[in-house]
Amino acid sequence: MKASRREVDGFAGGGGSTTVPANAVSYRIPRNDVAVPVILLGAPGAGKGTQAKRIAARYAIPQISTGDILRENVVRNTELGQKAKAVMERGELVSDDLVLPMVADRLCQPDCAQGFILDGFPRTVRQAEWLDEFLRSHDFGGQKVPPVVVSINVGYNQLLQRLTGRRSCPIDQKIYNIYLQPPKSDCVCDLCGTQLVQRKDDREEVISERLQSYQRQTLPLVDYYRRQGRLREINGEFPADQVTAETFAAIQESAAGGA
Ligand SMILES: [Zn+2]
Repeated sequence: MKASRREVDGFAGGGGSTTVPANAVSYRIPRNDVAVPVILLGAPGAGKGTQAKRIAARYAIPQISTGDILRENVVRNTELGQKAKAVMERGELVSDDLVLPMVADRLCQPDCAQGFILDGFPRTVRQAEWLDEFLRSHDFGGQKVPPVVVSINVGYNQLLQRLTGRRSCPIDQKIYNIYLQPPKSDCVCDLCGTQLVQRKDDREEVISERLQSYQRQTLPLVDYYRRQGRLREINGEFPADQVTAETFAAIQESAAGGA
């Protein structure tokens, strides 16, 4: 069932007062059909991928990452894709001059009309400012909609355990965590008894470097959204279902104009 457009008035204007129509009996009905542009922040290991999938399913909006957009443009051989391919082949990072138009193009696709969830974008304050400007000049669900920014927070030590504890079975690929989800007997697979292995990327030196560089890069972005009063912080150390419930609640609240 579609919500009436009046019902989503709280979205418009971003920061304006929320007017609830007098006859809005349905005001408390979960708004699974309003436009929700969601920006999801979270360190590697914070469970962002799982939550992104659930949000995408719950609100029927696409999950968008810059990696996917890049690959898609390269595959479709668009002009931007050709330029990006050349840059990547030289081993360089694709600059905003190429990334931003690709993101704009993606967000204008029909499947984004009711919102989208961005994973891994924006990465910098400059990209965040660009996105704000983009959202101010485009309609989503017939409205100008400010993004809902959700940060899934997990402490450094917990992230380290989640990432460095990961082991997998080389035969059937079953994944364990020696701290959080250990196999029944030491370091061998429950299913086939094979010795579990650790990926090179999951070694502590690699992980701590990844976490620190994420932290360095994301802090200014977190500050940017916090200053605007738009940052919704979720404790990601709770079980995944609880994190999901709180994430949905944060989105509903923001979408209802509480941002
Ligand atoms: Zn196995």
